[in-house]
Order: sequence, then C-alpha cells, then structure tokens
Amino acid sequence: MRTALISDVHGNLEALQVVLDEIDSERSVDRIICLGDILGYGPDPVACAEIIAERCEWALMGNHDYGALYEPTNFNAAAEQAAYWTRAQFELETDPKAAARRWEFLGHLRVRSAFGDFLCVHGSPRRPINEYIFPEDAVNSPVKMRQVFERVTRYCLVGHTHVPGVFTDEPDFYPPSDLDGRWKLEDEGRCIINPGSVGQPRDLDPRASYAVLDEEAGHVDFHRVEYDVESVVRKIHAVPELTNWLGDRLLEGR
Ligand code: ZN
Repeated sequence: MRTALISDVHGNLEALQVVLDEIDSERSVDRIICLGDILGYGPDPVACAEIIAERCEWALMGNHDYGALYEPTNFNAAAEQAAYWTRAQFELETDPKAAARRWEFLGHLRVRSAFGDFLCVHGSPRRPINEYIFPEDAVNSPVKMRQVFERVTRYCLVGHTHVPGVFTDEPDFYPPSDLDGRWKLEDEGRCIINPGSVGQPRDLDPRASYAVLDEEAGHVDFHRVEYDVESVVRKIHAVPELTNWLGDRLLEGR
C-alpha cells in the first residue's frame, strides 16, 4: 500500500491542486490521507474542503478545523478572526444539500485514526488536536518526548507544526534534508513522522510539502513542490478579515 500523506492545507487551493497533480502524475499511490487543518488562514476553505472530501480516504480534525467548526480556542487575534471568517464562508452556501454535505464532512473528521503499525493524529498522541511536537523538543524537552512516545507503539503520523521530518525516541529530530528525502522504517524502534504543510510551510522553504508512505518497501519519501504563492498572497490581501501577514508569511515559508 502506498499512501500519500498531506497535512495543514489551510485553505490554500493553489498549493493543494499542485500537490494533488504531482501525486496523481508521479507518485502512483493507492490512497491519500489528510492529517488535519484543511481550514484556517487561507482564502479558499470551502473549495479545499470539497476537494479533500472527494480525494482523501479520510481526514483528521485539526485545531483550525475545530476552531472554524466549533470555537477557536487558544488562537491569537489574527487566527481567531480568520476562523470566524472561514466559518462564514461555509454559511454563505444557499443550497441546503451542499451545505449539509459539507457540515457532515467537517463534523465527522477523525480525532485519531490507525492502520497497521501507524497511529495518526493532528497534534500529538496525548493531545491529538492541540499539542505541538516541535523539532526543538527533541533537544529541550526530553520528558515531554518520553511521555509522547509512551503512547506510540511503532509509528505515528502527525501534522500541526508545519515542519516536515522524523522524530525518533532517542529523542532526535531529522529534517528531510538530513535524510536525502527518504526515511527508512526500522525493524526496531519507534518514530513520529510529519509530512510538513501543503498550504503554509514553516521551515523557511515556501514550497508545498507532502510525503508518500510505502508500507511494503518500508520507507517514507518527503517531497516539495512549487506553486503560485503570489496569487494566494493577493487573495489573502483582498480579504479584510485575513490579516496581511497571513499572506506575507507564505512568501518566506514561516
Ligand atoms: Zn496547521
């Protein structure tokens, strides 16, 4: 089984389309799964939700999906305003059937999911929607990492930080650049894998990020793909409720 791993789309339609095009044309996957945060920050939340609903086998509930759907908790002012604007975009739908289908999809996003040796959560195994596992935690927070890994039997797939890479239970963190883009799943040992963000990368590389898991071959490949960042920035700048910085950060990948 080859599975494309996408996460943190954040209403960025241009990035999502380019990633899906590349997956379709070059990655020969059996399915696509989404690790959460379809919504929030970006200018095309409804279109992205429609596409994820159609193309992904399943999707997880991210904190921004939760924020737009229920209530934005622990959000800064810009993110909270974006969450209310995002919800309002869904409420604009005048066709009751289309509206019901979308709310149904969003309302059934999974908090956690599992297949084979893999546990999937948006944030972390102990706080699946909201806890971040940052690269620096591998150095600065050994107790946190031990507690997180206590809940990982073999492998865990996460999103949320928008930083691609692999955590081992040493603990250690390896960005894709340290791995030549490929992580080999070991026979022994546990790891947590983050495919990075499609719609808002934060590792100073503005290109959209995703990964492909090949269970039989026993590896995960990390991929980056360029998309039309400028046109997304223009769309964000055109929406008063979306703070300009939400667009500007896309240019820098932070
Ligand atoms: Zn996110």
